[in-house]
Amino acid sequence: GPRVGVLALQGDFREHLAVLTELGADAVPVRRARELEQVAGLVIPGGESTVMDKLSRAFGLREPLQERIAAGMPVYGTCAGLIMLSDRVRDALPDQQTLGGLDVTVRRNAFGTQVDSFETDLDVELLDGPPVHAAFIRAPIVEEVGPSAEAVATLDDGRVVAVRQGTLLGTSFHPEITGETRFHRHFLGLL
Ligand code: GLN
Repeated sequence: GPRVGVLALQGDFREHLAVLTELGADAVPVRRARELEQVAGLVIPGGESTVMDKLSRAFGLREPLQERIAAGMPVYGTCAGLIMLSDRVRDALPDQQTLGGLDVTVRRNAFGTQVDSFETDLDVELLDGPPVHAAFIRAPIVEEVGPSAEAVATLDDGRVVAVRQGTLLGTSFHPEITGETRFHRHFLGLL
């Protein structure tokens, strides 16, 4: 299969590598600019966006990542990965930056401390088959979807939890930990 990368600075990159490998992709961890050059698409995992941001700058990856995103590389971000792909972030740390690409505004840790983690089923028109069983872990919410982006999944109350724009896809939740492979399959279909 095609060679795809998982940004492996921090977070649950191993789970994403496992899903992509199971789907037949040649999936490799990406920590360096020269590794990024060798992949046709990239997954940005869940974890902690503030740390991922700091490490991406320390590893000299921020600009190469932004260049590849601008050039149309398919990228799928989950949770912290969605934050990294968002143009605007609420409740960011003061010096926190994102890579951007998705014309959306996300709010970090949007579900508060009482219900910081939960699971639910979502209808996702983009995907064939049964509802998606989604796990949310200190997840962001997409509070505004700009004209260039499109919501692809919402909670029952209408809050947006998955978006896409061109070859970029982002979910607030973590398909890689519930055995859900359809988002990764869709991502591979964008290559
Ligand atoms: N709360 C984390 C952040 O702001 C995201 C949590 C996750 O990726 N599961 O980056």
